[in-house]
Amino acid sequence: MSRPIRAIICKSALAHNIQLIQSRNPDKHCMAVVKADAYGHRLNAVIDGLKPADGLAILEIHKAVELRQLGWTKPILLLEGLFHLDDFKLAIEHQLDWVIHCQAQLDFLVQCTAAQVSSYRPRIYLKLNTGMNRLGFPIAQAPQAIAQLDAWAKALGCPSPVLMTHFANADAPTDQQNGVEVQAQHQALFKLKPADWASSLGNSAGALNWSALSGDIIRPGIAIYGASPGPLDAASYGLKPVMEFQTEVIALQDVPKGAKVGYGSRWQAPRDSKIAVIACGYADGYPRHAPDCTPVVVNGQMAALAGRVSMDMMTVDITGLHGIQTGSTVELWGNQLPVDVVAQQAGTISYELLCALAPRVPFTLKD
Ligand SMILES: *Cc1c(COP(=O)(O)O)cnc(C)c1O
Repeated sequence: MSRPIRAIICKSALAHNIQLIQSRNPDKHCMAVVKADAYGHRLNAVIDGLKPADGLAILEIHKAVELRQLGWTKPILLLEGLFHLDDFKLAIEHQLDWVIHCQAQLDFLVQCTAAQVSSYRPRIYLKLNTGMNRLGFPIAQAPQAIAQLDAWAKALGCPSPVLMTHFANADAPTDQQNGVEVQAQHQALFKLKPADWASSLGNSAGALNWSALSGDIIRPGIAIYGASPGPLDAASYGLKPVMEFQTEVIALQDVPKGAKVGYGSRWQAPRDSKIAVIACGYADGYPRHAPDCTPVVVNGQMAALAGRVSMDMMTVDITGLHGIQTGSTVELWGNQLPVDVVAQQAGTISYELLCALAPRVPFTLKD
């Protein structure tokens, strides 16, 4: 028997989440974001469940090619554009669309001739910096960039480009400052957008909290995997967790009151205690900085992390819980315990936990 740890990917949850987001954003195109190996869920495990999406968005061109090899025929968007000039041919060959976020990328593009573009006409997304100050054209330079791209796209017969930006704070819809910022970003974009161009603004937070301001093409990431972009919990949005991260109990210890558990003796038994040792550690992607009392579900019951997370194991206080033995199932996160709860306890966000899932954790699929 191999080590009992596993990540179970639920295809129907993925399809459900995409359809839910689409139902809140009728008449929009949904580009599901699958960067970071589908937020740690692995491209080959999610590809079937992604079918309801209108397209996929990713960073690395070789991963986009992998999506084509996996049979994805609908649009694929490269979210940070082409990193190297050599990638142009590959992008055309595999019918990819891409973002242009700076003048150097645009200068390269507008030199490309119809012959170089050959049979595929890419849809270009021009990214504006509307206040996040990360990627994108500053507003002052945007009119010229838009004119340049528009002329090029028309001359070559490409589809109308898309004007795009990214929300810095869309996860607190009741916060007034948050509302002001989202509105301002939306207005900045729509002041510049040519009538025949489409718009793309909303990430998960935008698509769920600010649907009306999210543009024609939404780009949800975390929500399609069933975790919440905030402020509500995932279940309140109707999202279903796509990943169940499971393991098993591999040993039990009776720990007398006052005895200590694990590295650094961080946890001390407040009473005679029962400790379950489970096969999951930080080398599997569980956060080492999770504090005592972080919830862990053992045999369907809520238990509490007791002591530091080791590389390959964790210790959990199961005092007073029932029916637990070696081989009992443990859920680190999933249906019984939302990943958002674990993330919050560990002082981080679900994105980081999901993306950090280690390659050594085997994946299985379920419908
Ligand atoms: C990652 C990313 C998204 C998705 O963000 P979520 O918060 O996961 O929904 C959308 N747009 C861009 C440009 C991104 O880089």
